[in-house]
Amino acid sequence: MKTSVVSKDYQKLHKEIIGLQENWKKSLNDQAVEIKLDKAAMSAGVPVAALAVFNFDIPLFLQWIEEIKGLLVNNNDRMEEKLAFLANVMDESTAQRWIDEALAFNHIYFQGFAEEHEVEEWIPHFLAETALRPYLQLAAEKAQPEIHTAVHGAGCPVCGEPARVAQLEEGKKELYCPRCLVHWNDKRLTCSHCGNDDHETMRVMTVEGDAASQIQVCEKCHGYIKIVDTKQFINKPSASMLDLNTLHLDFVAQENGYHTGGSGKLDN
Ligand SMILES: [Zn+2]
Ligand SMILES: [Zn+2]
Repeated sequence: MKTSVVSKDYQKLHKEIIGLQENWKKSLNDQAVEIKLDKAAMSAGVPVAALAVFNFDIPLFLQWIEEIKGLLVNNNDRMEEKLAFLANVMDESTAQRWIDEALAFNHIYFQGFAEEHEVEEWIPHFLAETALRPYLQLAAEKAQPEIHTAVHGAGCPVCGEPARVAQLEEGKKELYCPRCLVHWNDKRLTCSHCGNDDHETMRVMTVEGDAASQIQVCEKCHGYIKIVDTKQFINKPSASMLDLNTLHLDFVAQENGYHTGGSGKLDN
């Protein structure tokens, strides 16, 4: 499969969304997130965000939702109609609920919300998640000095998102969370989902036309991560840009039956 499989329009829109989030994150004050670094909880795989106190500025959150809406409509005028429901439903209590449910990865809530308001299923969760991320990113920035490794099976040590993308830095595998942007080390040949380090069941797939990237797959949990050798880059891309620029690898991995979080079922 060639690298051209991901549409340029999709990439452009998501690049703009990442730009918005970077600005939002800068506008947050330091007290917006208070983290507690509980070593015992961290070593048990509890994500830092689960124990953090988020002081959400609800009017600001509502403003961000409006800004995302503006961007989506600008990109595709059919979105105007699809997002019209926001005028009727968005208020402070809905915003608070969206934040809580997005933090809790509650897909069921967002599915129900979409059904109830007759909107496309992806929309409510996407909006909530997009506006939540700057807070997670602030939590990650504060926690970063204490984050060196992650507990296999628990996802990102800050936000709990399954591991997805890593950079090869001087031969070492450094995982980057595209959601909260925290980074941590893992052993080069170990599965970053289940911790499998049996070389017989760990494989690497490469993609035509992309010599800098590879997909590391695990035959035990059927998980994959994308590994990019970034030494060719003069300016290293942010984790979210790296994830976006390597979407073609996700297509290849998923077409071959691998998943970002592993299947959850161990083969043996
Ligand atoms: Zn994360
Ligand atoms: Zn695995």
